[in-house]
Amino acid sequence: MNSAIADRMSLIDSSGIRKVFALASKLKDPVNLSIGQPHFDVSEEVKKTAIQAIQNGLNKYTLTQGIPELREKIKVQQEKKNISLEEIMITSGVSGGLMLAFMCLINPGDEVIVPDPYFVMYKHLIKVMGGIPVFVDTYPSFDIPIDKVEQAISKKTKIIVINSPCNPTGAVYSKDQLKNLADIAAKHNILIISDEIYNEFIYEEESVSIAEIYENTLVLNGFSKTYAMTGWRLGWAGGPKWLLDEMIKLQQYTFVCAPSIVQYSGLKAMDYNVAHLIDSYKEKRDIMYNGLKDYFDILKPEGAFYMFVKTPDGLTDEEFVGKAIDNNLLIIPGNVFSEKKTHFRLCYAAENEVLYKGIEILQNLSGK
Ligand code: PLP
Repeated sequence: MNSAIADRMSLIDSSGIRKVFALASKLKDPVNLSIGQPHFDVSEEVKKTAIQAIQNGLNKYTLTQGIPELREKIKVQQEKKNISLEEIMITSGVSGGLMLAFMCLINPGDEVIVPDPYFVMYKHLIKVMGGIPVFVDTYPSFDIPIDKVEQAISKKTKIIVINSPCNPTGAVYSKDQLKNLADIAAKHNILIISDEIYNEFIYEEESVSIAEIYENTLVLNGFSKTYAMTGWRLGWAGGPKWLLDEMIKLQQYTFVCAPSIVQYSGLKAMDYNVAHLIDSYKEKRDIMYNGLKDYFDILKPEGAFYMFVKTPDGLTDEEFVGKAIDNNLLIIPGNVFSEKKTHFRLCYAAENEVLYKGIEILQNLSGK
């Protein structure tokens, strides 16, 4: 690394994903089950609203914390779910919210508890802030292991990060699990960051937010997945005022505000009923699960649009992904999301015909 680069950059690397993309670039028309975003497009209404916003001159900076109409709409939406958030700000995606939150909270040496498997960004952002991710193994059920979480708490523990429904496992934490977690967090006075970006992608029971139970929670959510707006960069953060005030202060000197036209479009997006899309994702989950369950060690995911599947025959994740790529199938090795190398992630946010092709290739590779 060039010596001009700050030391903190040596704390993170992107080798896992890079390796997959390097291998994938050799493929012409792969069966792609690697992409972490919905396969449907933004609704026409939302597109029109964005175009109108541009034409109406809404092209300037907004308030740093976001336009009041959108913050209010989110507040009301959350209150309907019995979640009362003291303060809400609009961010540039959940990624923007994570960056601001970690920067405002983590001192060098602070520990952050992260259930493993985890969304890849947590580990790297915590490290780049000088924090220490403390991983809590959730294999094989991917539920939150309350005892292990409590054992992992030390004097330096600052935050517990949870993500339910979870990327990459599709696990959804039950209300009881969240209550138990909240009890521990309260006992040790620890903030919980709850990344709820997949909260609409839920196929069995209603999704519960830990913010309903535990006040000392920062909720992060956004428009990327629910409304297929990944490229629009719109999210929000809600929680205690003492934290949001600092995050808004920092946004002023970093992102400034989330894109103005996108904020106005977000208002429209929130009126869009996504129930039919969620139904179709449940069907996709079932197609994938039924196609693979007799061939792989696999848990039926209850949310999001991923499956985290054990590799067969004692193969490492990278060995198995290498074989899949040789067969024109793109999936992601588990170590991108975990300290272990025993699983792979597939994303079933794709047309059903792609899912059937993927299932056929995976069945052939299963060794059964
Ligand atoms: N959190 C999780 C769990 C995700 O899976 C993703 C994207 O894949 C993000 C956050 C980032 O979301 P955004 O596009 O809102 O920055």
